[in-house]
Amino acid sequence: MRAVVIGSGISGLTAGLMLLRDGHQVWILEQFPTPGGVTAAVSKDGFTWELGQLVLEGLGRDEQLGYVLDELGIYDRLELKRNDRIYSFPDFVIRPPEEYAGPWWRMEKLAELFPEDRTGLEEYCRMYVRFREVVTLARLAERAGGLRGLALKARMYRKLLPLLPRAKWSAERMGAHLFSSEQLQAVFMSILADFVVRPSQFPGLGIPAVNPEPAFDARVPLQVSAVGRQPSYHSIVGGVNALVEVLVDEITSAGGKISTGTEVSRIRVEDGVVKGVTCADGAEIDADLVLASGGAKEVFLDLVGEDSLPEAYVAQIHDVPLMESIFMVHLGVDFDPEALKYARGRGIATQYGDIEDPEFVNTLPVSTARLMVIAVPRLAESLHVIRSLRAAGYTAELVATAYDSDSAKTLREHGVSRVLRPLSDAADEAAARIASDMTEAAQR
Ligand SMILES: Cc1cc2nc3c(=O)[nH]c(=O)nc-3n(C[C@H](O)[C@H](O)[C@H](O)COP(=O)(O)OP(=O)(O)OC[C@H]3O[C@@H](n4cnc5c(N)ncnc54)[C@H](O)[C@@H]3O)c2cc1C
Repeated sequence: MRAVVIGSGISGLTAGLMLLRDGHQVWILEQFPTPGGVTAAVSKDGFTWELGQLVLEGLGRDEQLGYVLDELGIYDRLELKRNDRIYSFPDFVIRPPEEYAGPWWRMEKLAELFPEDRTGLEEYCRMYVRFREVVTLARLAERAGGLRGLALKARMYRKLLPLLPRAKWSAERMGAHLFSSEQLQAVFMSILADFVVRPSQFPGLGIPAVNPEPAFDARVPLQVSAVGRQPSYHSIVGGVNALVEVLVDEITSAGGKISTGTEVSRIRVEDGVVKGVTCADGAEIDADLVLASGGAKEVFLDLVGEDSLPEAYVAQIHDVPLMESIFMVHLGVDFDPEALKYARGRGIATQYGDIEDPEFVNTLPVSTARLMVIAVPRLAESLHVIRSLRAAGYTAELVATAYDSDSAKTLREHGVSRVLRPLSDAADEAAARIASDMTEAAQR
């Protein structure tokens, strides 16, 4: 079958590769100069920005998106990473604690900040677990199918029942019911700005959906209760555009065609059957199947045309709510840019970078350095640097900081020859100074 896919966003590329894997001819037409749609990236002066998507739900191998990538045979071509989400408000910040403090640490922290809303937070937690159980059961039922699927669906409806009286509540009403503090309501609802929707227009039961606890702390287990696992949240190393690059590579290697800078102006339909597309430059491409991934109104009203569609269908398309465009600024700020300025001003060679970036280690003088001092506060980050340095061939001495004796022991086990203990070293130094001052005073 000859298939034309309009649009090279993540949906167009995925559908295109699926069709190719099923043995069809595929031609993807994209109006913009580069493929990727919202998942394309913009590069300038050595920096690359994502246009939209940063975090993906259910990308684990045994999860919804993971199944798709596995089926396409590209799962192993991506490097995934679970991240923590930090929320910064004008007068408080919610960041994962240094030591993992259990799946409800965020609720505890919020209860400390808003003690008047502790009961509401407890009610929210109960609703969160139930909502997650419902969604998990729905997912399991969909995948299981057959009798087992039906049994899972029945279990899902039983779990859903207590939530139903609030099914028609808006997020605004749910927020006001749970929390007296407007600041606390904002903690749970500020993410709605990302969806360009007001709390009064968003379903109240959707609040737990947009506030998944594992997205705030990668250490939070995915097991929601005996019912099963909730989805994980990953980012893709190199950005979502890395997925676009893999898809484009696989499509072209499998004989698919991608033409950028090619706008489709018409989907040709004759006697209710699609015949192909007409491009803005007048080119006609015949096809047995046309798959469009743009907006519903643009596709059906502009490209197909109302006269080729049933009236009731056209009425439905007119009713599709418009998602407004989002303009998002992705801004990276170093914790303390002044520190770099200070060091550079004194002629100290500095290298700016993120130690978690797999490329960062390649910017270090690994083959010539005789000593590396790792002074990051988190043990996991120190271990990550040690592993990256060793993998890059660094064999000389390592020094690292630790804030407790367990971390110091682990660092030694990983080959660190000297462990700095800033707090106890400072205390020892202070004690030695006081003792020496007292001895001097006694001798006088
Ligand atoms: C700012 C922002 C942040 C987001 N964050 C997340 C996130 O963190 N997690 C998440 O899961 N999702 C996120 N999303 C949503 C997600 O990015 C989108 O749902 C997804 O990328 C849409 O993919 P798509 O292929 O359906 O559409 P698009 O990427 O829009 O692709 C459609 C393509 O069709 C092309 N096209 C349209 N009409 C024509 C025509 N006539 N001729 C030729 N080409 C045409 C367009 O140029 C475009 O390239 C975010 C979205 C935005 C905007």
